[in-house]
Amino acid sequence: MPSNKTALIIGASRGLGLGLVQRLLEDNWKVIATVRDAAKASDLAALPGVQVETLEMNSGSQLDNLQQRLQGQTFDLLFVNAGVMGPGDQNPERAQLADVGNLFMTNAVSPIRVAQRFASQLKADGVLAFMSSILGSIAIPDGSEICLYKASKAALNSMINSFVTLHQPAQTVLAMHPGWVKTDMGGENAEIDVLTSTQGMLEQIKASTGKGGLHFINYKGESLIW
Ligand code: NAP
Repeated sequence: MPSNKTALIIGASRGLGLGLVQRLLEDNWKVIATVRDAAKASDLAALPGVQVETLEMNSGSQLDNLQQRLQGQTFDLLFVNAGVMGPGDQNPERAQLADVGNLFMTNAVSPIRVAQRFASQLKADGVLAFMSSILGSIAIPDGSEICLYKASKAALNSMINSFVTLHQPAQTVLAMHPGWVKTDMGGENAEIDVLTSTQGMLEQIKASTGKGGLHFINYKGESLIW
């Protein structure tokens, strides 16, 4: 049965973004999914029914173009999933300005810019989700060896809080921790697979639809400490 729901997923070429698109399609959603390079997103393109759009999230002009292409379209879900790990060596002693700039722009600033651009197209009972991480919690010590990435997700959480304070959205806003997941970023030693994580996240999205408020939760729906 068609669910008549539409999702816009940012960063869906592989990993969790691709998995989210698969779960949404299985649940009969209409899905618009963005990739940076369509030529490298054959797994996504192979999924029947998905509308693939191009977006490098850090490019204002590409955001302008996407906004134009999606003008008049409304969404039940906007999920900003795209993110990067940053430099392999995360010791502040050797951090390079360009690497740190790209990391914080991609993980903390651009997701909010995407939300600002598309929030008005999100239905009032819709869900605005950002892919955060439990490592973004400043209250827990985990992830200190990848401290630049950890700080970028703490910055994302802070930016989400500012966005909510400034814009007071009617929609539910989720800062989501997907679990430690086997992807290119999570690595093969991660605790869970993409299917488990994305099934859980879709459940949480559906459970939070129409609730409103800002919630920092994991894929099981457990509340996390900021
Ligand atoms: P991944 O396999 O490395 O995928 C990252 C995705 O983000 C790719 O689709 C990539 O596109 C896209 N992306 C990166 N920079 C972008 C940009 N500037 N513009 C547009 N798209 C961009 O990683 P993943 O594990 O699926 O992670 C997805 C999200 O979950 C990230 O935000 C990550 O921080 C977060 N997360 C992951 C874990 C985990 O255990 N895996 C845990 C907590 C949080 P390309 O293919 O073009 O590079």
